[in-house]
Amino acid sequence: MVKIDYKVCNRCEGAREKRCQRICPGDLIGVNPEDDRPVVLYPEDCWACTACVKDCPVAAITLKLPFQVLDKGASLRATAKGRKTSWVLEGTDGKKEEFEIIVDSRQ
Ligand code: SF4
Ligand code: SF4
Repeated sequence: MVKIDYKVCNRCEGAREKRCQRICPGDLIGVNPEDDRPVVLYPEDCWACTACVKDCPVAAITLKLPFQVLDKGASLRATAKGRKTSWVLEGTDGKKEEFEIIVDSRQ
């Protein structure tokens, strides 16, 4: 499940096509013409690829995997800023593990 934090989202500084909109491989993200907000139009079709999470320049998008991880109730959340994506894995016992993935732009 993708969630957009509208307090953080800057609407890609008024760009007509938003980065999250452009990068979604399923064309699931649109823009509300009334307030210029990006909206996930077809959340049921999201396959949790994290492309929008990683491409948002201000880390406004988080993703909670819609399927079970390791055990019932566990969750994995991702937020991204620049080249860094931070992941939080929360187990059924409430314990959290955090890790980061940094994309090497030379690759
Ligand atoms: S890429 Fe990020 S800042 Fe740009 S419109 Fe989407 S959520 Fe907002
Ligand atoms: S996680 Fe992937 S499929 Fe889902 S809305 Fe974002 S870019 Fe589209």
